[in-house]
Amino acid sequence: MITFESHIEPEQLELYAMGRMSEEQSVRVEEHLLLCADCQDQLQEFDDFLQALRHAAVKVPTVQPSLGARIREFFHSLVPVRPTYALGAVAAGVLAIVMLVPRPEQQALGTYAVNLESTRGDNGIGVTAPANYRLQLSLDLRGIAERENYSVTIATASGDSVFTTRATPAGARLPVLADRPLRPGEYWVRVSEPAAPHALLREFSLTVK
Ligand SMILES: [Zn+2]
Repeated sequence: MITFESHIEPEQLELYAMGRMSEEQSVRVEEHLLLCADCQDQLQEFDDFLQALRHAAVKVPTVQPSLGARIREFFHSLVPVRPTYALGAVAAGVLAIVMLVPRPEQQALGTYAVNLESTRGDNGIGVTAPANYRLQLSLDLRGIAERENYSVTIATASGDSVFTTRATPAGARLPVLADRPLRPGEYWVRVSEPAAPHALLREFSLTVK
């Protein structure tokens, strides 16, 4: 999320007002400006100052209108809407966009060991693992083609892959550390051929609660 820990340094605002800031830095400044009336006021002062300089016929390098300048122009065009309302609306838009960005991976609560056995028929007892743990899986390889390694995928019930790795067998077991904590739901743990098109060799069902 956008932090409010510090205002924009005056020197930075000055560079920004003069259009002498990198695009990357400008974006950061603008993100803050959208939400901070104090810094907007500061910027306005710099702008007024630059304007005065230009009127005094002092040679000021012409600058490309930055995105910030265009944003400010936009705010000014919103009259008679009170700027605070306009800003609030834009800020809400910014927050909505920020919230659409996927959150960083949830911190795992720990590691949980899960043995997945090959069962004949579909009467196998469902294996359950806790949500938000790293899963140290041990998959039963008995009866499937021997390979130096296998492709392992964890997919949701609707088939979306949420974790993929390559794993090397240890005897008739395939150890897999699924270090991406899973949300509650039904999953398939699939063992496939290591080479494309990764033909499915075996799948295990896994319930995460
Ligand atoms: Zn500020």
